[in-house]
Amino acid sequence: MEDCLFCKFIKEHNSKVYEDNLFYIIKDINPQAPLHYLAIPKNHFKYLSQMQSEDIENLGKIFAKISEIAENILQLTGGYRLVINQGDNAGQTVPHLHIHILGGKEMGWTPA
Ligand code: AMP
Ligand code: ZN
Repeated sequence: MEDCLFCKFIKEHNSKVYEDNLFYIIKDINPQAPLHYLAIPKNHFKYLSQMQSEDIENLGKIFAKISEIAENILQLTGGYRLVINQGDNAGQTVPHLHIHILGGKEMGWTPA
C-alpha cells in the first residue's frame, strides 16, 4: 500500500531491530514501557479478520520468532506483553496490523 507508513518502512526504515522475509521489528517512537517494540508483518492488512490463509500461517511463525529472539535480541528478560490493537475502541492508529511488544519492567494490568 503506497500511503501506508508501515509498508513504507519495509524499504525505508534504517534501524530495524530484526527483519526476515515475513516481518520486521522496530522500536516504538512513543514507548509505553522501558522496552517497546513493534513487530510488523510485511504483508499489508489492518484487521485480523482480513487475514488470508497465508497471513494466518505467517502470524504463527511471527509469534514463534518473537519468542525465539525475545531474550537475546530484544533484551526482554523476565517476560513481556504482546498487544494487538484492533479498531477504534482499542485505539488503533496505524491501519497496518502490528504487534506491540512491551517489557523491561513489571507491568500492571489495566487497559487505560
Ligand atoms: P496503534 O496505536 O496500536 O495503531 O500503534 C501504532 C504505534 O505506532 C504507536 O504506538 C506509535 O507510537 C507507533 N508509531 C507511529 N509512528 C511511528 C514511527 N514513525 N516510528 C515508530 N513507531 C511509530
Ligand atoms: Zn501497510
